[in-house]
Amino acid sequence: MSTYTPEQVRKLVDGKLDWDTVLRMLSMPKDGERFALYLRALQDKLGWSDRIVLPLGPHLHIVQRAKDKRWLIQCDCGHAFCDWNQNWKLHANLYVRDTEAAMTEVYPQLMAPDTAWQVYREYTCPQCGTLHDVEAPTPWYPVIHDFEPDIDAFYQDWVKLPLPERSN
Ligand SMILES: [Zn+2]
Repeated sequence: MSTYTPEQVRKLVDGKLDWDTVLRMLSMPKDGERFALYLRALQDKLGWSDRIVLPLGPHLHIVQRAKDKRWLIQCDCGHAFCDWNQNWKLHANLYVRDTEAAMTEVYPQLMAPDTAWQVYREYTCPQCGTLHDVEAPTPWYPVIHDFEPDIDAFYQDWVKLPLPERSN
């Protein structure tokens, strides 16, 4: 049995859950059904026929495309970046802050990192412009592939849900 109601999880997704309940959620062990409730709340919010398999960020998800069961990385706006096990950042729009002028849009003057040592890479959706991630590497560092989740193990061993079908 779940510790929380669908209504509470929906409010959590919307950032409108009261602090006492959030604090209780944070400090208690995760209950078994919360992932399913979380997916349901996201699915209802986005209204997609594509099924969410795993959220990757506040507005980025691995989905099972309805028409062919292909797993893709998809933005809230519906834009599909690439296959689920690829690095979506290589398909995003990229803005690199590598000058003092660009850094002072983020930091007060003289408090920004030296761009010879550190730059900011901002990855946005080509369709809606949502900022999905920011890297702060040294200038020469390759594009970081955040992680490739072991979704089979996550579904089977962790959340104990049937794995959505996958054609790719
Ligand atoms: Zn988008």
